[in-house]
Amino acid sequence: MKKALLLIFIVLSVAIPIIFWFRMLAAGLPWPVYLYDAGRLFALTGFVLLVFQYLLSSRIKWIERGIGLDRLFGIHRICGGIILALVTAHPLLILLSERLQGYAAPIGFLKVLGLIAILLVWATAGSALLYGRIPMSYESWKRIHRIGYLILPLVFIHSFLMGSTLQRGPMRGFWAILVLIYLAVLIHKIRQHHVFKRHPLRVSRVTKETDDIWRLDFEGDHPGYVPGQFMFVRIEREGRLSAPHPFTIASSPTQKGLSICAKAVGDFTSALGETKRSDPAYVDLPYGVFSFVYHDADRVIFIAGGIGITPFLSMLRYLKDRGLRKEVVLLWGNKTEKDIAFRAELDSMVSDMPSLKVVHILSRQGDWPGEKGRIDMGMLKRHVGDLAKGEYFVCGPLPMMEDVGKALSGLGVPRRRIHTERFALR
Ligand SMILES: Cc1cc2nc3c(=O)[nH]c(=O)nc-3n(C[C@H](O)[C@H](O)[C@H](O)COP(=O)(O)OP(=O)(O)OC[C@H]3O[C@@H](n4cnc5c(N)ncnc54)[C@H](O)[C@@H]3O)c2cc1C
Repeated sequence: MKKALLLIFIVLSVAIPIIFWFRMLAAGLPWPVYLYDAGRLFALTGFVLLVFQYLLSSRIKWIERGIGLDRLFGIHRICGGIILALVTAHPLLILLSERLQGYAAPIGFLKVLGLIAILLVWATAGSALLYGRIPMSYESWKRIHRIGYLILPLVFIHSFLMGSTLQRGPMRGFWAILVLIYLAVLIHKIRQHHVFKRHPLRVSRVTKETDDIWRLDFEGDHPGYVPGQFMFVRIEREGRLSAPHPFTIASSPTQKGLSICAKAVGDFTSALGETKRSDPAYVDLPYGVFSFVYHDADRVIFIAGGIGITPFLSMLRYLKDRGLRKEVVLLWGNKTEKDIAFRAELDSMVSDMPSLKVVHILSRQGDWPGEKGRIDMGMLKRHVGDLAKGEYFVCGPLPMMEDVGKALSGLGVPRRRIHTERFALR
C-alpha cells in the first residue's frame, strides 16, 4: 500500500513538469521545433526523477518502514535507467533539432555544466550496471556512486538559468521545492553519519560457528526491532572504523543484546575473526519488513539457503521465547553437513516446539540420508503439506531464491504470499 502511494507520488511529481511543458507548447510550428521541445521535456522529467533518486537511496526510516529497503533500491535502479535514457536523449534531440533548423547555438558555460552532469550520470549509472560484471570492489563502486550527489547542483544551475520552461511561472517554485528536498536529504545523510555514534555497543563475544561463518554478539542499549529485521553495523578494530555493513539481526527481541551471524565473503566479513571482545561497534536499526509479524498467519513456511538462515533464526528464537503456537516448516539448504550452523540449537527447538518441522537439504553430500540436491517442487510438496495455507518466506543466494519462487508459483502459491529478503542492496 505504502509502496503504491510512493509510486503515485513519484508519477504525480513527474506529471507536473509535463503539464507545464504541454501548456507552453505552441501549435503549427515546423516539426524540428517539437524535437527541441521533446528534448526539454526529457530534461525536466529527468530532473524530477533525479531528486527521487536521492530520497529513495538515503535510508530514510519513515519512507522505508512498511516498504523495505530492497524495494526502495529496486525502484532506485529502475529510475536510474530511465534518467540515463532521458538525459542522454536531451542534448541529442536539441542538437538534432538545431541542425534541422539550420543553426547551431554556441556552447557556453551553462551547457558545459549540463554536459558534466550527463557524464556524471553515465559514471554513476554505468558503474552500477558494470558492478559484478567487471572486477570492481563494493567500496570503489560506492565511491563512484557517491559522485551522484554533485549531479543535482550542476543540473539545477544549468536548468534554472537556461531552461525556458523555468524562466517564469509556478515551475520556478516547483524547482525550488525539489532543491529543498535535495538539501533535506543531504542534511539527513550528514545526520545519519552521527546517528551511528548514538548507539555505541561493545562486542561481547566472537564465535566461529562453521568454517566460514562467524557469530558476533554485542552488548549495550539499542532501539527495538522485530524478528527478521536487519541493521547496519560498523566495527572499530585497532582504532579503524569499518564502513557500515547490513546484517540481519540473528538474535530475537526477547533476548538481551544483539547478535549477527556472518559468512566470510569479502574484506570485512573475512576479517571478523580478528574482532576482539569489547571492540566498539556502532549500529543503525531497525530496517526491513521481512518478518512474520507483518502477516496474520497461523502457518509459516521458512525457506533458507546457506547464510539466508539468519532472519529465520531470529524469528524461531522469538517464536520459542514467546511460546507462540504457529505451525512452522523450515526447509534449509546447505552444501554439506558441516555447513549447518546452530544445528544443536535447531534440534533443541524441534524438541521444545511440537509445531516446528525442520528439513535439511544438502547439495554436495552424497551419503546424506535426508533430502539431497536443490529445493524443488517435489521437496516442497513432500514437506510443506497443504501448500494453499500459510505465508512463505524465502532468503538465500539469488539463484536459489529465483528457483524457489518459480517452484512455488508452479505449485499455485500466489505471489502476495511469497516474501523475500535479498542480501544485497543495489
Ligand atoms: C538486508 C541484508 C541483510 C544481510 N544479512 C546478512 C547476514 O545475516 N549474514 C551475512 O553473512 N550476510 C548478510 N548480508 C550480506 C552482507 O552485508 C555482506 O556479505 C557484507 O556486507 C559483505 O562485505 P565484505 O566487505 O565482506 O564483502 P565484499 O566482497 O566487499 O562484498 C560482497 C557483497 O556484499 C555487499 N556489500 C559489501 N559491502 C557492503 C556495504 N558496506 N553495504 C551494503 N552492502 C555491502 C555487496 O552486495 C557486495 O557485492 C546482508 C545483506 C543485506 C542487504
